[in-house]
Amino acid sequence: MHPKLLFWIPAALRLLLLVVAAVVVGTFFGLVPGLLLALAGILAIAIVQLQYLHALSDWLDDPEKTRLPDGWGAWTGIFARLYRLRRDDDNNRKELSEWLTRFRQAMHLLPDGVVIMDDVLFLEWCNPAAERHLGLSLERDSGMRVTNLIRNPAFIDYIILGRYDEPLTLALRDRKLIVQIIPFENRRQILVTHDATASEQIEILRRDFIANASHELRTPLTVINGFLEIATSQPDLDPATRAAHLKLMSEQGRRMQNLVEDMLSLTRLESVDHPPRPEPVDMAALLDQILHESEALSAGRHKISLVVDGPDIKGAADELRSAFSNLASNAVRYTPDGGSIQLAWRDSAAGPRFVVTDTGIGIRPENIARLTERFYRVDKGRSRETRGTGLGLAIVKHVLIRHGATLTIESLPEHGSTFTANFPRSVVCMKEPLAV
Ligand code: ADP
Repeated sequence: MHPKLLFWIPAALRLLLLVVAAVVVGTFFGLVPGLLLALAGILAIAIVQLQYLHALSDWLDDPEKTRLPDGWGAWTGIFARLYRLRRDDDNNRKELSEWLTRFRQAMHLLPDGVVIMDDVLFLEWCNPAAERHLGLSLERDSGMRVTNLIRNPAFIDYIILGRYDEPLTLALRDRKLIVQIIPFENRRQILVTHDATASEQIEILRRDFIANASHELRTPLTVINGFLEIATSQPDLDPATRAAHLKLMSEQGRRMQNLVEDMLSLTRLESVDHPPRPEPVDMAALLDQILHESEALSAGRHKISLVVDGPDIKGAADELRSAFSNLASNAVRYTPDGGSIQLAWRDSAAGPRFVVTDTGIGIRPENIARLTERFYRVDKGRSRETRGTGLGLAIVKHVLIRHGATLTIESLPEHGSTFTANFPRSVVCMKEPLAV
């Protein structure tokens, strides 16, 4: 039935009943008692309605605490509808507050900063990333003008010019930020900030790498080209000079080859994000190979020893061979003739270690932290003389990172150095259980 009918029918019935009762009383007892009955009935109905209105007003004042009464007559329908409205409202409110919580959590996790401002740039809200990027504090700065909080001339110009379709790159608090203002709604604007410091550093590293690599390749190329020009302009060069030139050219050619190979290794190590697929590595065999290579490089100029007293590990054998070979060959190259070099594979409570100790030229403490940077050399002349590329320790660092290991360097100038590759216990190969 239509709700309007539900409202009117009981009221009409009540009135009809009252009129009938008044007519009956009027007929039997006279006009005055009939009218009095009608008046009393109307008064009773009015009092009941007033009571319900009062209860409704109480409930409207404090819907949380007061209970809606169970209605009577048309009030039943009204109260039922109010109940439903209240329930729907509660549900909507719960849903909205859940959404708001989720939105806040997302904004907290967002690496980019978000600042909400009104049309005249007064701060209304910002997320923690924006607080970090711009040095704001929502609690302290809420309601303040953003241009008073971020006092950067480039930012102020950006606001004055109002060219918001282009982002602005800003150097702020040792960071490089990309900021952009996006107007939204009628009277609000969002300021979005992105921290580009890391990508800027990567870009600088990339530029440096290309500049260094070009420089490193240019020197041997210049030497080779020089000799080739001599060979073409002086065809009747005596055989001894020609042989000496060819020897120098092939040395420079090898230098370029070493450099390109190291650059390729480094690029390979850097471009593969995931750690190497772990395969058991026979450490005794691998280290034996390193010992032979070192002896060949030393050509009897040093005393080289090897101790293998550690477990086999899981890792990429090729990468480990390259890293260990770099450490061992550095020890040979930076140790004057007659010095001694110890290679040791040992176990410890924390995990196995590869330790290379030499009695070489050593490194001053201020240079140690930079040794693993690409192309960093303490003594450029000595590195080149011994066919160094300046990339060896960068390769070592990358291989170790990919195996969860770290490199520690201890050194005393003029006395020697100890390079230690510290592996975690997790890479140790478990012994096969004995067959019963
Ligand atoms: P390079 O090809 O020049 O040897 P590396 O990356 O292997 O490049 O090493 C970087 C620098 O660290 C070297 O140029 C050298 O100055 C220093 N270095 C490395 N190993 C030793 C060592 N065992 N003793 C002294 N200096 C070393």
